[in-house]
Amino acid sequence: MSVSGGELLNRLFDVIEQDVLPLTKAGVERGNKLFGAAILRKSDLSLVLAETNNELENPLWHGEVHALKRFYELPKCDRPNTKDCIFLSTHEPCSLCLSAITWTGFDNFHYLFSHEDSRDSFAIPHDLKILKEVFTLDPGGYNAQNAFWKSYALPALAAALPEAGRQKAEARIGRLAQAYAALSEAYQQAKADNDIPLN
Ligand SMILES: [Zn+2]
Repeated sequence: MSVSGGELLNRLFDVIEQDVLPLTKAGVERGNKLFGAAILRKSDLSLVLAETNNELENPLWHGEVHALKRFYELPKCDRPNTKDCIFLSTHEPCSLCLSAITWTGFDNFHYLFSHEDSRDSFAIPHDLKILKEVFTLDPGGYNAQNAFWKSYALPALAAALPEAGRQKAEARIGRLAQAYAALSEAYQQAKADNDIPLN
């Protein structure tokens, strides 16, 4: 199946809004961070699964890694080849998740909010701090298209659409940003009570 950029974007926004956000709302209520992820089949854009951050159980269960854990818990017959899948992340993956996506063989990932958004809008500076401290990388310093995968920022895909589609997509991004801002406030207010190492 071949889909237009606008159709793909709309489907990815739908998955964030309808499949990831409800899980993340419940996760944030328990005290977890607001990061989520989903895996879709490239063939028909159907959802394989969605997941959300579960650092309260294990600090490695970032939204992306938690989705991958669930993915490999699926029976093999129900699990598509990662090369045939789209990886969707609400936020630009951190170094842990970049590596997890690489090691599991995806050739792509798509994300809504950037590392800078995580630091500036969501008060989670750890992605950029780790990239700088461990890998000596400044923001934007990793290779966003490389021999393993290509990464796509949804706002950049939206900006490349023809005018009418661009406006609709940007309006959806604005609504999603509002929904995530509310979750961020809830997480930040409650985080002093959790024992997540980098909260
Ligand atoms: Zn991560």
